[in-house]
Amino acid sequence: MEKREKKNKINWKRTFKNNKYMLDFIIKVSPGILILEFISTVLMAISTFFTTTYLYKYAFDALQNGESIKNIVIFLVGFFAFSIFSKVFGNICDSYIQINFPKLEAHIQNILHKKAATVDLACFENTEFYDTYVKAVDEAGQRVMAVKNSIMDIVWAFVYGASILTVVFTIDPIFILIALIPLLFTVFIGKRRNRVQYEYDIKNKEIARQRDYVRRTFYLKDYSKEMRLTNIHTVMLKRMRKSITEMKLLVKKYGYKMMFFRYLFDLLFQVVVRTGSIILAVYKTLVSKTMLIGGCYVVVNSIESLADNFNYIVGTVLKLDENSLYIDNLRDFLEYEIKIAEDKNAPEIKKFRSLEINNLSFNYGNDTPYVLNNISLNIKAGEKIAFVGYNGAGKTTLIKLLQRLYDPSAGEIKINGENIKNIRLSSYRGLFGTVFQDYQLFATTIAENVTLGDDKTNEKKDIVENSLKKAGIYDKIQRLPKGMDTIVTKEFDENGAVFSGGEAQKISISRIFAGDNEIVIMDEPTSALDPIAEQEMYNNMFEACEGKTVIFISHRLSSTVMADKIYMLENGKIAEQGTHNELLKLNGKYADMWHKQADNYTR
Ligand code: ADP
Repeated sequence: MEKREKKNKINWKRTFKNNKYMLDFIIKVSPGILILEFISTVLMAISTFFTTTYLYKYAFDALQNGESIKNIVIFLVGFFAFSIFSKVFGNICDSYIQINFPKLEAHIQNILHKKAATVDLACFENTEFYDTYVKAVDEAGQRVMAVKNSIMDIVWAFVYGASILTVVFTIDPIFILIALIPLLFTVFIGKRRNRVQYEYDIKNKEIARQRDYVRRTFYLKDYSKEMRLTNIHTVMLKRMRKSITEMKLLVKKYGYKMMFFRYLFDLLFQVVVRTGSIILAVYKTLVSKTMLIGGCYVVVNSIESLADNFNYIVGTVLKLDENSLYIDNLRDFLEYEIKIAEDKNAPEIKKFRSLEINNLSFNYGNDTPYVLNNISLNIKAGEKIAFVGYNGAGKTTLIKLLQRLYDPSAGEIKINGENIKNIRLSSYRGLFGTVFQDYQLFATTIAENVTLGDDKTNEKKDIVENSLKKAGIYDKIQRLPKGMDTIVTKEFDENGAVFSGGEAQKISISRIFAGDNEIVIMDEPTSALDPIAEQEMYNNMFEACEGKTVIFISHRLSSTVMADKIYMLENGKIAEQGTHNELLKLNGKYADMWHKQADNYTR
């Protein structure tokens, strides 16, 4: 994935564009959040200025000038009414944001999930991409709010700061210069501080990912048996200790730097601004007598706020730059150009006639060895094709390429004589109904696990029932109190169903009986079944798939007897091909495998 250049100087254009990118999400989903919060921020800034600064100045001036009681009462009532109004408005605004924020977050997560569901499968094997994705998903909701908050902080600091500035200016402009001192720190060092924080966060996240993995192996059911019965937990604990050490080193490396920045800033702020201005104001009031008591009080009281505000404005602008670094990750992910993508203008496949693989070679990464080498074969509609071979021969990879989960590194796959790259992806993939070796059941109803996301699951009850029957699992499901509406796994429902490996596999197989796909692909569909259930399953499958094209991978050669053509793969090449009888006659590798298996069954 292409990385945006992380320069050490602020790239204003990028900072602006990135923050606007996030702001556009709010404008699109809930513009009310921005409008209400803008008004509320301005009101609160004015109200705070009155409470913390102007009220005192007014009081001292009123005392000095002998202001009438009536005017003082009018001022106080007006001040009180305004304070209450801005507070109530602020509360309404907060509630509105609280109610609408989930909508906004859901919108962003929806976009991220849609993207995650369509990016190339290869991305999930790329650690850098995976990290970017995890960071983007983790941060998205917070970051959109961070951008909004930063902008509102600037609005607040401008309104509040400008008000104080005007008052202090009328008293003595020298104090404005003192208030500007911490700003120099922020301008010259703040950028470095943010960079250090960013580097720390990124490295911290990498370590946290390692730790999360180890934690998962301890509490997830999937790992619980190996954890108890073997010593793998010692390896995991070692890994955890390693990540804790890395964490310590990280804190050591960055913690001191961050602490140094913090103390330097505090020193400047507390000693120079606060103490310095108090000494000067007291000196001017008591010694040189060039300042009134009221002015002294206002300066001592509000100089920190003024310095704070100068600093705040620059600090928040830097915060926008920090946001921008994170938003880069989000954009890297969302703007990642999907290589195997849907092209709405590409033609669809109306009726499948043939698949043709020509000189296909494939490796998973640029510098990795080829796992498929110069494969050529043809499959005609209605044929039953078996791929056999030892582990790692390349069978699964070949069917992943057939479904265009990856594109070939060399050679091509054609459907009805046309390169599959020129066919509309959804139409092409829609031809296949597949049972993967590493199939997944989802924590939803059994029926939905069979129809796989079909909205009309309820109308398809008969089909689901029939499919479960053909897969030989209906009896068991019928006995469950909620039948096929039972939730799979106990993760979200304590009455959820837990299936054995073989039962789960049967549910996954029932998907192909329920689907209306022209090509059925099955990768080791019966590995968890006993020989009798396996034979039954194949009989049902061939019967249900009468007229359909079936491509299956099987370790047990008893099923391949029924195939029209068998391809024996070895080291990514087609070693032998033919019908069962032809291959037995050839007396080569397939025959050898067959005899070894037959021996096992008859012994
Ligand atoms: P089979 O299905 O015949 O057992 P596979 O197609 O699963 O074989 O694997 C063929 C080779 O490709 C193996 O050496 C395997 O390690 C490698 N391989 C499979 N998947 C990946 C992957 N995602 N990334 C890198 N190598 C892979």
